[in-house]
Amino acid sequence: MSRFREFPYRGSLLQLQNGAVQEVFHEPISAKVLVERMELVLHIVNEAARLVPSGRITFHWSHACKEVNVKGQQAIFTDESGNAVHVNYDLLVGADGVNSKVRAELQRQIAGFRQEWFGKMHRIDKFFHRVKPPAGTHLDTHRGELDDSATVLRFYYIDSPPPLSVGLFFIHNHADGSYSGGISFTRADYTDEGSGGSLKTAEDFEAAMRGLTMYPEAMRREMAGQFAERPWYTSGSTLVLSRLTAPRAVLLGDAAHAVSAAFGQGVNSALEARLRPSPATWSFSHALIMRWEDLLMSGSDCAVLGDIVSAAPDDLDCALERYERQRKPDAHALATMDHQAEAFAGFRGKWNLSYWIFQTHLAVNGWHHRTWPQHFGDPNLVPMMTIQRSPYSAIYNRIKRPFFIILISVLVALLSIATKLLRVLAAR
Ligand SMILES: Cc1cc2nc3c(=O)[nH]c(=O)nc-3n(C[C@H](O)[C@H](O)[C@H](O)COP(=O)(O)OP(=O)(O)OC[C@H]3O[C@@H](n4cnc5c(N)ncnc54)[C@H](O)[C@@H]3O)c2cc1C
Repeated sequence: MSRFREFPYRGSLLQLQNGAVQEVFHEPISAKVLVERMELVLHIVNEAARLVPSGRITFHWSHACKEVNVKGQQAIFTDESGNAVHVNYDLLVGADGVNSKVRAELQRQIAGFRQEWFGKMHRIDKFFHRVKPPAGTHLDTHRGELDDSATVLRFYYIDSPPPLSVGLFFIHNHADGSYSGGISFTRADYTDEGSGGSLKTAEDFEAAMRGLTMYPEAMRREMAGQFAERPWYTSGSTLVLSRLTAPRAVLLGDAAHAVSAAFGQGVNSALEARLRPSPATWSFSHALIMRWEDLLMSGSDCAVLGDIVSAAPDDLDCALERYERQRKPDAHALATMDHQAEAFAGFRGKWNLSYWIFQTHLAVNGWHHRTWPQHFGDPNLVPMMTIQRSPYSAIYNRIKRPFFIILISVLVALLSIATKLLRVLAAR
């Protein structure tokens, strides 16, 4: 993976509607890299071929899982020509994404296997890929520095055409000087047919992007052309499962714990470490930004499962139980934080417990960070999540703790004052 390190991920900046700019730049900048999804997939496939003895692994491309018989331990796929392929399995690993067929089958066949969605698919996104600016032109870099040694991810609020609302335009640079990025909207009344509202043709996109001046104008036509050709993606849901496993079956990644983009943790949660510092991974449209160290050797759903299975290779049932016990608390803690993200940010008003829990965390953790920076390296939750020094359950506990300590202290103080008052009154 080290070749990806040559062009690290430096950080992000967000331009607010009032023109103010918020920056989150990482030091040292070599701590993260941006890897395109396809590059990562190819890398993993090549590594698998290199590491696994020949004949022990086979890739069947373009096979879709259509049915699972959990009791009979059989999965049915269709191949490229539509022919059914029956596969008997010892262990079924459902890593088939947010709309997992394996998950649907487990839900259908296993009593008590429940799924719950929050904020179902309330964002729609479109991407453009590797558009080159004309020679001598570049992005408005805000600081005046050219991005030629690292990737900077920029977000800009944009006016959204109805019926969309709260739009973002985002763009980042590549080592070869080209740019990728996209647009993203929340949309309360999202439907498959209506996605994108009035934005359909290249001309629609070009007109909508005319107000954006941060990129060289000559890039607009190609970006708009790509927007018109590419599909809208939906995102923004939080999935909570009552179980991550079933007899001889396990769900990994988005199939097990899909999250919204609120904290950029979709990929990271699939790669979260259990005991060691984990790779902080940030997926961005077609690309992944991740802490490069330990990527393949340290934690992920797969690595945790691998550790557990290799510790008890002859007892898969027991291994799955251990996996369930170990991973579910982290998956649920992440889902809770993801679901509360808007409340944390104050979008659900101030009469909201989560808002005050988070404000207390910001105040207390921020004070700790300023006073003892060597012990409290993270000013708040967001870097705690992206750098991922702890599992999600530990992060969530750290967020909640100051609020409840203060609350309990205040209650105890009030109780003791009330008791004293009562004693004084009783003595009279
Ligand atoms: C628009 C968008 C923006 C995102 N932005 C971010 C971000 O900024 N940060 C972040 O961390 N995450 C983001 N994510 C989430 C991130 O992409 C996922 O968390 C991550 O890809 C999950 O990996 P996965 O391997 O579990 O699932 P996926 O990457 O979805 O892979 C699942 C695979 O299973 C295959 N598959 C599906 N169904 C079947 C079937 N029936 N049979 C066989 N194969 C099947 C699919 O073709 C796919 O190859 C975003 C997602 C979207 C859609």
